[in-house]
Amino acid sequence: MLSQKLHDAMNAQVNAELWSAYLYLSMALDAENKGYKGIANWFHVQFQEEQAHARIFINYLHSRDAKVELKPIEEVPTTWCCPLEMFKQTLEHEKKVTALITNLAHIANEDHDFASINRLTWFIDEQVEEEENARDMIQALEAVEDNKYGMYMLDKELATRTYNVPSPLANSAE
Ligand code: MG
Repeated sequence: MLSQKLHDAMNAQVNAELWSAYLYLSMALDAENKGYKGIANWFHVQFQEEQAHARIFINYLHSRDAKVELKPIEEVPTTWCCPLEMFKQTLEHEKKVTALITNLAHIANEDHDFASINRLTWFIDEQVEEEENARDMIQALEAVEDNKYGMYMLDKELATRTYNVPSPLANSAE
């Protein structure tokens, strides 16, 4: 059985992942409004990934016979000055998510809850990737700076990003 502390923290994490999804959907819409179809696609894929993260926590809580309680999702910003600002906020946000996941792993460790530690290990690896992806995008945008042709080519490249079902969901119907 999950400890009450871990149950509560994982419930809060479902909300945090859905807030992330909402943030990236908002960025996708703003990018689309500004004519960056590729960047909009990148954030739309991110929106799908965050929903998958929430689903993985939901599935895990259910598998441990723990009830999920959905809470209201807080408001998100709706406009950014430019793509670089979106990715800078993405990196800062992902660092906060990494801290939340690390805290969950600490609680699971205190509880000697090895099943939870195993599930959280996937998220720990995922956060390394999330932060790296955001940093790569910041680097690419800083390299392009005000070069319109470079921005056009980068946007075209980002249009090719596709959503892949994360491995913890690969064998489920979700
Ligand atoms: Mg996430």
